[in-house]
Amino acid sequence: MGATDAAQTPVGSLRGDGQYFDSVGNPTDLKTFYKHNPSFIYGPMAVAAFTCTACRLSASLAARLEDGRAAPYGWYDTLTYTVFAILTTFAAHGWFCVHAAQERQYQQYERVTRGPDGKRLPAPVEGEKSMNYADREAPRGASVRSTAALLTSWVYALYPFAAPTTSWAMFIGWTCGLAVYWDLHFFIFHKIAHENPRMYKLFHKLHHFYTAPDVFGAYYVTYQSHFATEQSVLLLAAFMGMPRDVFTWTMFLGTFDTCVKHSGHSVSSVQRGLPMSYETLMTILNPWSLVLGGGSAGEHDWHHEKFTKNYALSFTYLDKLFGSYHKGRAAGEAVGLSRAQKAQKAADHAKAQQAAAACDKASLASPTVELVPSIATVVKAPLDEAPPSPPPSPPTVATETVAPPASAPLAKPVSAPVVPSAPAPSGVASLCVPLAFAYSLLVLAQTKGPQIVGVLHGAAAQAAASQPPEDVAPGTPLLELCEGYAAHHFDSIGNSLHAAGMTAGLVSVALALGARHLSTLERAVSAMWWMPQWYLYAWVGHFGMQKDVPAVFTYGLTPSSFLKGEFCSTMWVYTGAVFEPKPALFWPSAGNVPSAALGAIAVATFAFIALATPPGRLWCKEYHARAAVAAKAKAC
Ligand SMILES: [Zn+2]
Ligand SMILES: [Zn+2]
Repeated sequence: MGATDAAQTPVGSLRGDGQYFDSVGNPTDLKTFYKHNPSFIYGPMAVAAFTCTACRLSASLAARLEDGRAAPYGWYDTLTYTVFAILTTFAAHGWFCVHAAQERQYQQYERVTRGPDGKRLPAPVEGEKSMNYADREAPRGASVRSTAALLTSWVYALYPFAAPTTSWAMFIGWTCGLAVYWDLHFFIFHKIAHENPRMYKLFHKLHHFYTAPDVFGAYYVTYQSHFATEQSVLLLAAFMGMPRDVFTWTMFLGTFDTCVKHSGHSVSSVQRGLPMSYETLMTILNPWSLVLGGGSAGEHDWHHEKFTKNYALSFTYLDKLFGSYHKGRAAGEAVGLSRAQKAQKAADHAKAQQAAAACDKASLASPTVELVPSIATVVKAPLDEAPPSPPPSPPTVATETVAPPASAPLAKPVSAPVVPSAPAPSGVASLCVPLAFAYSLLVLAQTKGPQIVGVLHGAAAQAAASQPPEDVAPGTPLLELCEGYAAHHFDSIGNSLHAAGMTAGLVSVALALGARHLSTLERAVSAMWWMPQWYLYAWVGHFGMQKDVPAVFTYGLTPSSFLKGEFCSTMWVYTGAVFEPKPALFWPSAGNVPSAALGAIAVATFAFIALATPPGRLWCKEYHARAAVAAKAKAC
């Protein structure tokens, strides 16, 4: 099988014995494929036999399997993943056939595409339209190999994973650890496979058959390569005690991501009406790429084209460290579209400049400042009356890192009311230090809950707070849990704090999804503020007023009980039950606090969050930037 067969093999040809092959000699049905590639049957069988033997021979593994700390992934979950993975490859291929714009294309496909006679097609004539993703010959053989590779996922059913994680810290730690190890493992193996000719031939040559890969190129591999770079990593992680939910998350996300990385297109800015770009979404789902550098489709595409750069799987830091990093082609350049785009952009820009100049003439009467400082300055205005929260960043940082508005006219001088100058919340330290502080408060509260109650209210209160409540224990059925949840919130004012904080948390998430004037880092930080706001205000009520530890500490021990508990709290707040009159510790007269007073307390707390806290400053920044754009549009 290989390129040399192509000359004798027209598209979809039938050779004797009912065997079908595509134009480059790849079998186009699974039966023929397995006949020519028995390693896809015997390979996983050997891996399965090894896995079962190891589970019996290793005393510690056998003990873990015996007492339920570990269990095989199982057939049902394996089937779910396998179906998902195969459907994902076909769905992604379909998406690129229908939607991929040539402005996003990295390579000219003609270079590697052969006609029915097996000969390379000529390069397009100057000015002629280049081939796009959908014009290429249907990847029939590649799709069969990709499907066969993903069908070997059945071995995962036997992999002995540990029980699901019981805290978010554990889940995040394992997910990050696996991502970093897998990337390192892949980098080393991949680099050796390219530098040693025998290794290259045995493991990796086939994957490089397509120098301009498509989605099915992701799993266009030999079985030995699939085992060496994927199944072996996961087997090792399983032996090391990786929880099964970490495996599930990594595989579903990773399989999708590798399809995109082999698509030959830059989709990082694709939004399609969604509230954020693909790149922002992936950064939120893989936050460690902020530190280690997130790999892009352009980099892996360059690897397929040039063979010697960009060996890593997920991150860029290793290639940068070993000097093998290349940022790859600019999207659209190879097909001559990015230059056309640039020319169009220049024309648009000139037009916009003219419009802005006309607008400025019309509004000479009002004092003029630059838009970027104006965003920065108006943000601070409402904060001047509020108590000083974290130290503001220096003005220079502020003006430099404010994300410029998307369209050209907005970057021009703009008329806006002059307000006292002050820094915007944009410096990395001023964004991250308060966030780190908030998360350490969360950890402190979770680990030292009863002690905090003790410090505030004495030993008797601490002893009472140490007793785990039974009605909100893990495993309580949903409706019972919700009843227990409501019973554990008996202080009216504490309940108002719940409503204010949870709402503020949702606003932060909404801002992360929908901000148009914040940088990616600011949006990521806004998303991260969700959790501290959702909980910390409420916990003032628990520790300070109810003298108990928050219910989430007891029900939130597994992802499933955590989600159930959060469902109860969300229903409780947003159906209004949170404002039912109940007594409160901090209320001047005896008796129940009226609902109206509780609503007012919630609104006042929310206003405090909006005006005086770091996430509130991000909301303000976005709000004022939008207001400035709207005012500008109105003025013109
Ligand atoms: Zn590849
Ligand atoms: Zn390679």
